[in-house]
Amino acid sequence: MKNDVRVVVIGGGVVGVSVLYHLTKAGWQDVLLIERGELTCGSTWHAAGGMHTINGDPNVAKLQQYTINLYKEIEQISGQSCGMHVTGGIMLAGTRARLDWLKMAKARGRYLGMELEIISVDEAARIFPLMNKQHFVGALYDPIEGHVDPYGVTHAYAKAAQIGGAQVVRHTRVTDLKARADGSWDVITDHGNVHAEHVVNAGGLWAREVGRMVGLELPILAMEHQYLITEDIPALKGQKEQLHCIDFEGEIYTRQERGGMLLGTYERAGVPWSPRETPWDFTQSLLPNDLERIAPSLEVGFEHFPALGEAGIRKVVNGPFTFAPDGNPLVGPIRGLRNFWVACGVMAGFSQGGGVGLALSHWMVDGDPGADIWGMDVARYGDWATLAYTNAKVRENYSRRFRIRFPNEELTAARPLRTTPIYERLEAKHAVFGDYCGLEHPLWFAPNAAEANEVITFHRSNAHPHVAAECRAVRDSVGLLEISNYGKFDVTGAGAEEWLSHVMANRVPKVGRIALTPMLNERGKLIGDFTMARISPERVFLVCTYAAEDYYRRWFERHAPPAGVSVRPCAMQYVGLSVAGPHSRALLQSLTHEDLSSAAFPFLTFRRMDVGMIPALVGRISFTGDLGYEIWVTSEYQRALYDLLLGAGAEFDLKLFGGRALNAMRLEKSFGTWAREYRPIYGPYEAGLGRFVDLRKDSFVGRAAALEEKQSGGKLRLVTFTIEARDADPCGDEPIWYEGRVIGWVTSGGYGHSVQQSLALGYVPKEYAEVAGGFEIEILGERCQATRQAQAVFDPDGSRMRG
Ligand SMILES: Cc1cc2nc3c(=O)[nH]c(=O)nc-3n(C[C@H](O)[C@H](O)[C@H](O)COP(=O)(O)OP(=O)(O)OC[C@H]3O[C@@H](n4cnc5c(N)ncnc54)[C@H](O)[C@@H]3O)c2cc1C
Repeated sequence: MKNDVRVVVIGGGVVGVSVLYHLTKAGWQDVLLIERGELTCGSTWHAAGGMHTINGDPNVAKLQQYTINLYKEIEQISGQSCGMHVTGGIMLAGTRARLDWLKMAKARGRYLGMELEIISVDEAARIFPLMNKQHFVGALYDPIEGHVDPYGVTHAYAKAAQIGGAQVVRHTRVTDLKARADGSWDVITDHGNVHAEHVVNAGGLWAREVGRMVGLELPILAMEHQYLITEDIPALKGQKEQLHCIDFEGEIYTRQERGGMLLGTYERAGVPWSPRETPWDFTQSLLPNDLERIAPSLEVGFEHFPALGEAGIRKVVNGPFTFAPDGNPLVGPIRGLRNFWVACGVMAGFSQGGGVGLALSHWMVDGDPGADIWGMDVARYGDWATLAYTNAKVRENYSRRFRIRFPNEELTAARPLRTTPIYERLEAKHAVFGDYCGLEHPLWFAPNAAEANEVITFHRSNAHPHVAAECRAVRDSVGLLEISNYGKFDVTGAGAEEWLSHVMANRVPKVGRIALTPMLNERGKLIGDFTMARISPERVFLVCTYAAEDYYRRWFERHAPPAGVSVRPCAMQYVGLSVAGPHSRALLQSLTHEDLSSAAFPFLTFRRMDVGMIPALVGRISFTGDLGYEIWVTSEYQRALYDLLLGAGAEFDLKLFGGRALNAMRLEKSFGTWAREYRPIYGPYEAGLGRFVDLRKDSFVGRAAALEEKQSGGKLRLVTFTIEARDADPCGDEPIWYEGRVIGWVTSGGYGHSVQQSLALGYVPKEYAEVAGGFEIEILGERCQATRQAQAVFDPDGSRMRG
């Protein structure tokens, strides 16, 4: 084994070898993979090897497509067969709601270039004769599903990497990791030590243990997973290989395995394996079968596919594999640890392993993943994702693997976990809460306890009229919204302005003022949108997306502030309330001695002031597009502030509103938001944020690329559409059609109650950005006429907000 290398990859499962291969492909040859047993000896060897392109996150779906297309390449380089069987696959719907979901999946697949097709039950039965038609109402056909041989794939990656210069060492266990002062690592193994500039944790089932070597508790849990293989089925003899099939109602998947069929299930009452520690002596091992546990799924499966029930069972496999709380991988560098990377929590290694290796290798070699991988970035989880939280969420995710996630559905596991001081008060007002980073926040308010429950649907729900009333209140009088679920940073010190001016694209505002600013990466792409509020010459309060707090902290660490500048995250220390609507000024004025007139306190003013007895930071800004104020207080004051505003608000017809109404109103104003309109695949001019990029500054991160984008105009444009929708609005990722072709995609959608229109924001190539008509947006399989709006549909000149 070499003792000094550029990278040590820990773990020779399908993920580790993919990272190794991609590093060599990206030009780093001096790389070493250390595996404690044989390659594949963790989860990989007993996988069913299924691969598919569909994923709830289109960016992850793209990386899945990449993975599947990669197998030919590594076969060619290595000479090792991956055992590919591209049979095609069908997903069977047993209910209308499921068929709607499949139509949505098909629509989303369009702009990713997937050739998915909705087919009738008869057509499904023709191409997949094992099914019993009477249980189904339709199906989705995907021509590029199939399976691979886990051993073949892993060895093909490893051989291709070795041909590229990598070394693979087996039967060597990494027992500890020690950081050196220069950011490199001493990798301690039971066969000697290696010095490495970078370390990658691809420890799979042991990724938690490898994480703990560096003081990291990764949100990962392994679940037991069972599949069985039947004896040969006479009807299959001499036939073309059967399609892959997912039966959502039965919660099973099935495919042909030699002369029989393989049938696996994600049962409702899934069982975690080794919830705290993974035993080191679990090598190429399986767990005892427990057919009792999956008997209900088998019963349904045998009814839906009678030939499988009639065949005997040849073999049962019960093996563990790992999941993150949302079921997507954990990839990327770790804040606070130099040159330490993770590629773990990969629950679908044969669909995702290639994409994970590609993104991570680019990140390590070029400093950027090269794709939008927010959906699998390890930084999406903060300290709140403890082991017990992970346990509850992973079990929920596992049990829901084949269940429909409705666009208005809030999952219930691990709740309530984090609450703000006014939680009970809002509950008493019949708030229906959503979960955001484990934090409860009100979505809408029901008129009474009995109605405080949202029916999950693809169509407009029972919340619709109540959200409409909330919007009306904001537009006509005044509304009160809890806004604690934002990220916040307190940036202080003599060099605060200079540092912020370097990491943010806009100019730092003067004292007492607010400026909106994109944050760009070196490629000039959007990696954040912030509100900068200057409290004093040496103090700037940043408000941003809470879910991205760790992502931002990691970026701030990379662009480290100089000595004397402190960047302190303080999201939960400052909780907030916002008042918005034409009466919001009068309401707030009744509670403070500060002059809130437009002349004295204009739009984008920010000031420390007392509201009643409460010391607060108040900014004149609002995401609703109406006159409004955001009031930030340390958490011990939030109840008093709430009571004060609610009491004084009675005179102004104040009404509580929630996140649903806020979303509707920001759509009416064409205001974008992080992870929807603003993501690292878009530039600021494409996203309509060009006015917040101050190119008069000599330098800031991403300036050169931003300038280039401004000059070239970029490729895309964010535009607003009104849609002739019936009773379902877009919710994101719907295709945008123009004259019979898919040309773009929706990023957010909903119903604008103030304008009584279905609305969508989405990206189209810039050539279409001036076209008005001729567009269609596909909602649940139906192409609805859409009209591009040249400006926001509500108060386009912003006079209400600024007045
Ligand atoms: C029953 C079953 C069926 C499945 N079916 C499918 C399927 O159809 N399709 C699909 O895509 N996925 C499937 N999976 C999931 C798939 O197996 C995983 O996604 C994949 O194996 C994860 O690979 P990995 O490399 O992350 O982890 P692992 O395979 O667990 O690899 C990690 C490796 O790291 C090594 N290691 C850990 N710590 C150290 C250390 N300290 N020193 C040295 N080496 C170390 C381990 O020995 C191990 O070899 C299935 C899983 C199971 C259990």
